Amino acid sequence: MIAELDKLIDLQKTDTNLRRLKRLLDTAEERRAEIEQEFEQHASSIREIQGRRDTLNAKRADLERQIAESKVYLERADRNLKHSQNQKEYETAMRDLDTGQKQIAGFETQVVEIMEELEGVEKELGERSDEIATLDAKRDAAMKEFEAAIKVDKTEFDKLSKHRAGAFATLPARLASIYDRMAQRSRDGIAVAEVINGSCTACYVLLRPQVQLNVKKGDEIITCENCTRILYMPKRDEASA
Ligand SMILES: [Zn+2]
Repeated sequence: MIAELDKLIDLQKTDTNLRRLKRLLDTAEERRAEIEQEFEQHASSIREIQGRRDTLNAKRADLERQIAESKVYLERADRNLKHSQNQKEYETAMRDLDTGQKQIAGFETQVVEIMEELEGVEKELGERSDEIATLDAKRDAAMKEFEAAIKVDKTEFDKLSKHRAGAFATLPARLASIYDRMAQRSRDGIAVAEVINGSCTACYVLLRPQVQLNVKKGDEIITCENCTRILYMPKRDEASA
């Protein structure tokens, strides 16, 4: 295979890799946000349950306070009843006693309802306790892994960019400009296409037997008659590797 063709194949493989890496680097911000958002969804659903628990606990504390106040009121009414001097005082105290008892009964009913709700909320939190305990650590690990992968991609991108510049510089000017023109023209950036089973892998057209033969020989630059890309067939040992 002529040296230029080897260089073109190498250039194409390098560019295809560079395109892949560029896409990864270009979408890094987006992908980082997706990971963060996924963890944030878990965190916010946990916060929502914890918020419900806190609200119920606050309501319960408020009711307990009201019950305590009502008990003070009830004790006073009870004292007033014992010390009532006349019918009017007696009736007032009786009425106050009745009111206080009804208030306490009402608050206690509400406390029971809240306790039932709280039990459900605590159960939910209990079922997710593992998730709650590990969420922050998992988020940190996922972000660390992601940043490490991006760093690897960036390093690889820089390395290949240097390699690309060197490889491109050694190509004859005519081939270099053909390559660039074709790579820029096609959406997939493919200027050099492999031939597999007699077909151009860029446009999928079956090549004429003579073209296939010439590509296989690899001693001159052959282009696809359909898409004009430069064609190559890997050597047998490469193909089987
Ligand atoms: Zn083609």
